[in-house]
Amino acid sequence: DDAVVSGGKRVLLAKPRGYCAGVDRAVITVEKVLEMYGPPVYVRKEIVHNRHVVDTLRERGVIFVDEASEVPEGGLVVFSAHGVSPAVRAEAEQRNLRTIDATCPLVTKVHKEVNRFARDDYDIMLIGHAGHEEVEGTSGEAPDRVQLVDTPEDVDKVAVRDPSKVVWLSQTTLSVDETMERVDQLRERFPEISDPPSDDICYATSNRQVAVKAMAAECDLVLVVGSGNSSNSQRLVEVALQAGARDSHLVDFAHEVDEAWLDGVETVGVTSGASVPDVLVMELLEWLAERGWTDVQEVTTANEKISFALPRELRSSGESAR
Ligand code: SF4
Repeated sequence: DDAVVSGGKRVLLAKPRGYCAGVDRAVITVEKVLEMYGPPVYVRKEIVHNRHVVDTLRERGVIFVDEASEVPEGGLVVFSAHGVSPAVRAEAEQRNLRTIDATCPLVTKVHKEVNRFARDDYDIMLIGHAGHEEVEGTSGEAPDRVQLVDTPEDVDKVAVRDPSKVVWLSQTTLSVDETMERVDQLRERFPEISDPPSDDICYATSNRQVAVKAMAAECDLVLVVGSGNSSNSQRLVEVALQAGARDSHLVDFAHEVDEAWLDGVETVGVTSGASVPDVLVMELLEWLAERGWTDVQEVTTANEKISFALPRELRSSGESAR
């Protein structure tokens, strides 16, 4: 009798989860550009790190390229939410491209911090993941002044000119706890290191980590919807495990869940990365309901009300891009 089942198959659904303000803005930007100019629209790199979003836009006529050099002379290119270095902007200008910048304002904020500290002649320790597009863009603001700190070993490798003029900054989508560990290690080496003027890890990243932490200890399994190249999504799996979930996996789609993961599982936690449309989470809930996990309880740790204005060129339709 379903009505009397208690402590049985239960789903804890994290809130906040999914789309952040920066991703929402970036995806709407590309959709608007498609409407205004028609396909093909070029986007440098994945607009956001989500397979479903990228595939859907590709079907609608978006051509994703790795570099501005692949866009035909005079063409229109959108820069992704992760931001670009000044060298990329210069290349686009050289090729006479019209550009629309979907960089998240919270990434732009870190670019400005890099510029400011570089101007003041600081050595900048940028905590982040080697090879991530955001880090390439941010460090490109001042390549001579920025050193990337990813692993604990990197802390030993960095070299500074004046230990009283060192600052740490970070990628927006890191694990909050791991970043603080790295900062402690840096502070051991450079006791006078300065903190960023404000948090670089963005509200969406930290809110999603707080939410998954709140439920992880009660979960036998935490399923995170998100893509393998999504930094903030990957971090949610790690945070879930560190916070006491017995098992956790990242999946792009419900059909990627391995039924074996559900053996002996009563409580499944569900969340999603900041680049994930909620329809994918709803599909996962349906998939779980078909297998008996019908009791869904939302675990809310914050209510997000942030949104960002679209890039200037798109604010009133009818205006044309530069
Ligand atoms: Fe912006 Fe944070 Fe979203 Fe990245 S995760 S797009 S920094 S709000």
